[in-house]
Amino acid sequence: MPFSTLGLSDPIVKAVAEQGYLIPTPIQQQAIPVILAGKDLIAAAQTGTGKTASFVLPILQNLLDAPAVRAKRIRALILTPTRELAIQVEANVALYGKHVHLTSMAMYGGVDGEPQKQRLIEGIDILVATPGRLLDMYTSRAIHFDELEVLVIDEADRMLDMGFIADINKIVERLPLKRQNLLFSATLSDQVRFLARTAIENAVEIAIAPDTTTMPKIDQWLVTVDKENKSALLSHLISGNQWQQALIFIETKRGAAKLVSQLEKRGIKAEAIHSGRSQAVRAQLLDDFKAGELHFMVATGIAARGIDIDDLQRVVNYDLPDDADDYVHRIGRTGRAGASGEAISFVSRDDFKNLCAIENRLGEFITRKEIAGFAAKLEVPASNAAHAPKKAQDSRRKRIKSSRS
Ligand code: AMP
Repeated sequence: MPFSTLGLSDPIVKAVAEQGYLIPTPIQQQAIPVILAGKDLIAAAQTGTGKTASFVLPILQNLLDAPAVRAKRIRALILTPTRELAIQVEANVALYGKHVHLTSMAMYGGVDGEPQKQRLIEGIDILVATPGRLLDMYTSRAIHFDELEVLVIDEADRMLDMGFIADINKIVERLPLKRQNLLFSATLSDQVRFLARTAIENAVEIAIAPDTTTMPKIDQWLVTVDKENKSALLSHLISGNQWQQALIFIETKRGAAKLVSQLEKRGIKAEAIHSGRSQAVRAQLLDDFKAGELHFMVATGIAARGIDIDDLQRVVNYDLPDDADDYVHRIGRTGRAGASGEAISFVSRDDFKNLCAIENRLGEFITRKEIAGFAAKLEVPASNAAHAPKKAQDSRRKRIKSSRS
């Protein structure tokens, strides 16, 4: 099924073809007709499934023939959890919309708001924004929502994780009642459904990746290793296997800085990306990493949210995340759009509880590999449901209960 049969007009199909997309991905095949028909939608789709185009393309189409937007007004609002994601989604809007005459802007905090305010004065067709900055703009009357036609909540699960629920509710309360609502989330947890209900009534629901599976083309494996040997193991894998690139997840800012200097001592150039670095530095590092000029990037969980990198070959969980959904999200950064990828986790005894939660979430054990010279002195036992953190056990119980009822 080519893009041209989905009901998109020529300038949009042309832009997509220029990106080299031949056929719509499953989420695009299912979501585009629903959105073109003006219906509300709730979609479970992870990053990497082509979800961004699945809402951007029909929104561009639906806005094509409407009159020009008025001052300080917007017609489509896409809410994202992070500024990085806002920038990436807006870049996609500009890319897919390059043959149509619609305006777009990414608006996020942490930078001077004045230029954003100036641009809002003329009105913007498609605004991609993080919740906090949007509310600030609304409060200072730099933006009005009375012409808004469509609301997208992107990465709803991350929004909740990052504590944006109150902001989102405030925004939704201020929008016109008659509007189209679209919600995308990697998982449709009870909390996400609750959030969806506050904004959306009768939505069509699409689930692309079943809740408990991860993406198929990712080679996941782990090494059990003592905590103090993790940095030596990383250097060994990088040098021994001539890795060209890796995004390395670590828990703390301090840990990130330390790891960068440990790698440097072994002749491996890496950079840390975390909330302590300025937005300009983070954006530059991300560009360098995407361009292949920076080979190894060490990121804390928060900073890494929303990072979109095509063809990322490898992610390394230097530390395992506390939240099993974060694991799924992290490894989803590799093996995108059909490419193959590798997700490697370093698991020390300290990570055992997190490992249990993750393997429970996956419903399978992650393959263990031994690396000569790095065998863990503190053994990490096979994971077991009884060891999963309480939160994970509760939600698992709920899942089991709801699948029985
Ligand atoms: P997303 O899930 O929106 O983060 O998209 C993941 C990646 O898939 C992005 O790099 C897109 O450029 C790419 N992509 C989106 N749609 C298609 C398609 N129909 N065919 C091939 N690649 C695509």
